[in-house]
Amino acid sequence: MKSIILIAPPSAGKGTISKILCEEYHLPHISTGDLLRSSILNDDEQGNYIKQQMNLGNLVSDDIIISLVENRIMDNDCMNGYILDGFPRNLKQAKQYDEFIVKNNIMMGFVVLLDINREEAQKRILGRVSCPNCGAVFNLYSNDTRPRIAGLCDRCGSDLTRREDDNSEAFDIRFSTYLKETKPVVDYYESKGLLYKVNSSNPLSQVLEQVEKIIRREND
Ligand code: AMP
Repeated sequence: MKSIILIAPPSAGKGTISKILCEEYHLPHISTGDLLRSSILNDDEQGNYIKQQMNLGNLVSDDIIISLVENRIMDNDCMNGYILDGFPRNLKQAKQYDEFIVKNNIMMGFVVLLDINREEAQKRILGRVSCPNCGAVFNLYSNDTRPRIAGLCDRCGSDLTRREDDNSEAFDIRFSTYLKETKPVVDYYESKGLLYKVNSSNPLSQVLEQVEKIIRREND
């Protein structure tokens, strides 16, 4: 299967969509946010630096990200494609990724932009809760993804928590960073003819349907 790069402003649903697609198509999910959150658990100098940058809403250094992603892609389970969620986040990462896949004979696949406007993204971020045990993500303001029992994970019953970077201050920085750093990556892939745009303000089921249609077309 062709690999998919999912790009989106904060809270457009790339984590939720990636998880559903990975289960449906049996693809490994490479989320740089999740890889970083795991690195924080090391509680060493690098872990503390990552935590600080993430909580502020800033991007973590390219060197750390690129080495995390490249190591993960070299794992055996990525041989038949994967979903990249949250990477590349700037042009330097996109160009390094190009070099890496050429050097390692990896197929590029295609790119999906989950687009959403700033107001909708901000509203969603304030309602987002997730499960620290199984990683499921819910939204208190969405009929589609609201937890069935308030405060508890639908999948495993654990207590739901809020991400430390899901607050208005960090959101402002993350959204500006998206426009300044990540939007050029969208333009880069569009100029290469690799980009599909999906309106992520629509209900989850519609967004999913559209992305699945793109996947079928690309893998025909
Ligand atoms: P996400 O889970 O994708 O929303 O990412 C959460 C945070 O992790 C971001 O706000 C950044 O601080 C950091 N992060 C995730 N992916 C990257 C990346 N590709 N480059 C730099 N920082 C990243």
